[in-house]
Amino acid sequence: TKALSIRNLRKVYAQDIVALKGIDLDVEEGDFFALLGPNGAGKSTTIGISSSLVNKTSGEVRIFDCDLDTQKSQAKTFIGLVPQEFNFNQFEPVEEVLINQAGYYGIDRSKARVRAERYLKQLGLWEKRRQMARNLSGGQKRRLMIARALVHEPRLLILDEPTAGVDIEIRRSMWAFLREINAQGTTIILTTHYLEEAENLCRNIAIIDHGEIVENTSMKQLLAKM
Ligand code: ADP
Ligand code: ADP
Repeated sequence: TKALSIRNLRKVYAQDIVALKGIDLDVEEGDFFALLGPNGAGKSTTIGISSSLVNKTSGEVRIFDCDLDTQKSQAKTFIGLVPQEFNFNQFEPVEEVLINQAGYYGIDRSKARVRAERYLKQLGLWEKRRQMARNLSGGQKRRLMIARALVHEPRLLILDEPTAGVDIEIRRSMWAFLREINAQGTTIILTTHYLEEAENLCRNIAIIDHGEIVENTSMKQLLAKM
């Protein structure tokens, strides 16, 4: 099964900005996949379209065999997205951010509580559960974003530059956490402009530049070439 399958995907923003020039991309279920490329290459656009946040111009996107055009609501339940910006309600307690998110997916509060506890503990945020989300540090907010994306137990976790601006110690613990949930079966796709992050985590990689896939290979083969 493919977690993500993209065919001939084009995106043209207003003012004729061509962000994606008809890309193809496949990510197998269980993979830990990096989409690498410089700023402005089209990484965020690709994952934005894959998670139904951004409309495509043309092409086909399938999430676990669900077509985004015809089976969008089903496809959305498969995906957990961690965007770069902190878009949770800053005026809610940490734990409520997770429980309310679970509510959007129809998960009842008692079940949501159990999941919130698990992810808050795993991400080192349990002691902060009653704090207002706005009072968390940057690194803690980033981890809250990850917990929130997981609360409906998606099959595919997509992270946009997950460790941007995070210091090295926290970055390492986030890497360990992501490896663990991947080992438990969650497919992970992350974007990064940071080769070391991809090298540390990912089995397969695509490099995107000016809206085109210029390399699509295993991390091993990429490193052998360098
Ligand atoms: P990356 O994530 O690799 O930095 P993006 O997907 O954000 O790249 O951007 C790809 C291209 O699309 C860039 O030229 C960027 O300026 C442009 N772009 C991204 N979002 C928008 C938008 N909302 N409106 C217009 N142009 C955009
Ligand atoms: P920063 O704001 O600099 O990112 P934090 O205040 O978020 O740092 O980090 C607080 C503490 O939480 C650190 O001592 C760090 O080791 C710990 N921590 C970070 N991630 C995890 C994790 N996944 N599991 C357990 N503890 C963690």
